[in-house]
Amino acid sequence: MSPADPVAERLRAALTRRVGGFFHNVRKDPGVACQVCAGPATEVVCGKCAGHRDEFGDRLANQVAILAYARGYAPGLHQSAHHVREYKSIPPAEKCAEDLAMMILAATYIHWRCIAGQGSGEAWDSVTFVPSKSRPGPEHPVAELARNVALCNGSKNRFRLHLGVGIDAPKRTIVPDRFSVPESALDRVAGKRILLVDDTWTTGGTVQSAAVALHDAGASQVTALCVARWCRHDWSDHRQLLDSCTAPYDAFVCPVQSPSCTVAASGTGI
Ligand SMILES: [Zn+2]
Ligand SMILES: [Zn+2]
Repeated sequence: MSPADPVAERLRAALTRRVGGFFHNVRKDPGVACQVCAGPATEVVCGKCAGHRDEFGDRLANQVAILAYARGYAPGLHQSAHHVREYKSIPPAEKCAEDLAMMILAATYIHWRCIAGQGSGEAWDSVTFVPSKSRPGPEHPVAELARNVALCNGSKNRFRLHLGVGIDAPKRTIVPDRFSVPESALDRVAGKRILLVDDTWTTGGTVQSAAVALHDAGASQVTALCVARWCRHDWSDHRQLLDSCTAPYDAFVCPVQSPSCTVAASGTGI
């Protein structure tokens, strides 16, 4: 095993200091948490994700990586929920935006092989993000998260999804035409492996809609990378899962493999 990568070590230490007090890595253990969305699940995947799979099958994201839980609807306002909301306020809360960006940077730097796909020697071909209806362009802080992805093979391989005709459909449902791949970006999608970045996973409706649009445009693989899994403190199954996570956020804990991968410990980095 090679000595740990000092850059990875520094990112890890900085993140634990900055967000370790209120963010916790998601769980992916079968029978406890959903293998897709990390929400509570007594089966391998939760009912919501199973329903998505029945309806959309291979058009969904091939892999979903979520970094931490956001504790929504907790008495008072939990810092994790505050962070994922305020990072996109106008103007954005600077520390929140920086923290989320650093989480994306660290995850893609340390775990790029896991995020790119098991056994893959190559990173993703192209990076995009899930656009918001109110601010679909690069001015939205989620675009900044996508810009913080490590190892993206250069800026030419970034592209923007457009809002589609189905953008007004309820957010919790997957709608294939909620987003569309512009013609100008088709060459960065067809036959390519895409990293799709978003800030928050609630039901997966919007993220998976984007994954379906990318697959329908010919993407060979889509990995969704979200900073936070939004959970509800006021729902007992969610609360039980949240309460079981007590360790400070650790960037070395793999967001893809459970319990964890070996790449962080061996310090492969970029
Ligand atoms: Zn799920
Ligand atoms: Zn990993």
